[in-house]
Amino acid sequence: MAEERNRRALLELAAKPDNTACADCGAPDPDWASYTIGVFICLNCSGIHRNIPQISRVKSVRLDPWDDVQIEYMSCLGNKVAQAKFESKVPAFYYKPTASDCQVLREQWIRAKYERKEFIYIEKQEPYSAGYREGLLWKRGRDNGQFLSRKFVLSEREGALKYFNKNDAREPKAIIKIEHLNATFQPAKIGNPNGLQITYLRDNSTRNIFVYHEDGKEIVDWFNAIRAARFHYLQVAYPIAMDVDLVPKLTRNFLKEGYMEKTGPKVRKMERSSNSSRKSYQGNGSELDLRISLHIV
Ligand SMILES: [Zn+2]
Repeated sequence: MAEERNRRALLELAAKPDNTACADCGAPDPDWASYTIGVFICLNCSGIHRNIPQISRVKSVRLDPWDDVQIEYMSCLGNKVAQAKFESKVPAFYYKPTASDCQVLREQWIRAKYERKEFIYIEKQEPYSAGYREGLLWKRGRDNGQFLSRKFVLSEREGALKYFNKNDAREPKAIIKIEHLNATFQPAKIGNPNGLQITYLRDNSTRNIFVYHEDGKEIVDWFNAIRAARFHYLQVAYPIAMDVDLVPKLTRNFLKEGYMEKTGPKVRKMERSSNSSRKSYQGNGSELDLRISLHIV
């Protein structure tokens, strides 16, 4: 009897407007829940929660038995209350993944929130918010496709991302302006779950760098550090623009959005296959011209 009563109570809680989207990725009608955090989550996110059992314990809303204490806890918490706590200090530039994003982005978002509590204690955001970041990434070689360890340095002060072919090299192999920089996760294309594609313009043509790091936190920290650098660059370049206008322009997942820009030597070929070849943004009178390109090989 109690079990049936609790099941009904839980279904009522799950149907409340606060709880009708997954607390972590926004997917509709989540039917799993973490009874230690007090949130309703989707099946995919519940799989990630299972990997951090010291923080989160999950059960099916419909199939598992729930006891009185757990129901009481879920009714006191819920997605909105938990969000107010665990997402209270998410920086504007930080990428919040959705259900369609790759595993590493979704997993690190969940770990950042509940395990590392990065959005409660802002000092934990230092790896991507300090304006400077350096470290080693595996970078795919141009010719043979082999991945080699390379030092990368991102400096907001210099307005650039640089990488070096040797650890002790004085001159960088490439200096990529933050202004012309895009980053997007491409695990399938790169053949690594943490694969990140960095795209930029040089001499009017599109260049790509393919990198990964074995550690999911590291690569997502790089991604958000790039977003932070672009955010601060755009804030200076367009001082009257609102944050909400700048945030969509930090990085573009162009493969998913499916538009192309013609650049470089393949102009003619790409012109035929693209209706809108270039996107411009109007933001408070200043034109933000984002050149994100799809490089077709
Ligand atoms: Zn989810």
